[in-house]
Amino acid sequence: MSEKILKSIYNITKNHKDPLTNEFYNEVNKNISIVVKNGNVNISISVLSNKESVYLELVDLLKSEISKIEGVFSVNIILTAEKKPHKDNANKRFSIDCDNIIAIASGKGGVGKSTFAVNFATSLANSGKKVGLLDADIYGPSIPRMMGINGKPIANENKKLLPLVSYNIKCMSIGFLIDVDTPAIWRGPMVMKALEQMYNGVEWGKLDYLIIDLPPGTGDAQLTLAQNSKLTGSIIISTPQDIALIDARKGINMFKKVNVPIIGLVENMSYFICDDCNKKHYIFSNGGAKKEAEKFNIPYLGELPLDINLRIQSDEGRPAIIDNKNSSISKLYLNIANKIENNIKS
Ligand code: ADP
Repeated sequence: MSEKILKSIYNITKNHKDPLTNEFYNEVNKNISIVVKNGNVNISISVLSNKESVYLELVDLLKSEISKIEGVFSVNIILTAEKKPHKDNANKRFSIDCDNIIAIASGKGGVGKSTFAVNFATSLANSGKKVGLLDADIYGPSIPRMMGINGKPIANENKKLLPLVSYNIKCMSIGFLIDVDTPAIWRGPMVMKALEQMYNGVEWGKLDYLIIDLPPGTGDAQLTLAQNSKLTGSIIISTPQDIALIDARKGINMFKKVNVPIIGLVENMSYFICDDCNKKHYIFSNGGAKKEAEKFNIPYLGELPLDINLRIQSDEGRPAIIDNKNSSISKLYLNIANKIENNIKS
């Protein structure tokens, strides 16, 4: 009976969010503990000290809803305030008012990850979403060039950096914070510091989507970024060659290991359309990424051609959607963005 009641309680709590961190109180949330004994329910919710008052409304709501469950005789809810932040909640330091944080990742460099990030961000902005684009590629930040940004961000009166806005998208790049020409070995703590600065030290405002362009690969830095970016999910970009797919597989496994949902796999540079015969030529073989997605049971989001205009648009800082949203390549991006939005909602 207690088991059944516990399940019903979680069915209620999972719809309520921590008012400060916005995390839902579901079964995996470590900040809520529920004990049911002989119909008596004891719940303890961990909160930060001095913030108890923010939770009072939530406590009343939970009490009233839980006491209606059949078999429940009493409901007791206590707030446990800790002086120090939780040891395992270091990522709470990262705060950003954003509904969906999506990382764009790839197993190796040069497969079109940043190009995808830019065109995905512009596709979302095209449908009226408030979008931020965070270039976390510590090995070669390219978003400023692809978004046609020349300046450096300035700080406001609260000492927060103002993102540079291009094509209605708020952009911030690690390239603004570090000297990209000086080679550095990025260790976890350094990445954490830079990431924290790009979350908390930037005046993002309210966003519907934050798109993060991750560095390529699956090393210590990537793992730290994936683990600490509070991701809604990740999208993996690969080219069709076996060698790229082997690396993409490592990316898939990295996200699985840290429990970040994989929204899908995109195959870039899949084929080339010949100007003369207008046929698709699958230069690097066909269907590899799709098979890979099936094997790992992750959604396959589609394929994008090798397109000379896309390369020129990237180099000139005019994303495809901005240049011509009715072009065939723009339509492919808009279609993939649409699929991603639907995958997230479902
Ligand atoms: P990554 O972020 O994976 O290192 P980039 O997005 O920087 O890769 O792309 C590498 C190069 O390939 C850039 O010059 C970019 O313009 C080009 N590129 C990316 N995708 C395509 C494509 N589908 N067709 C043609 N050129 C592309």
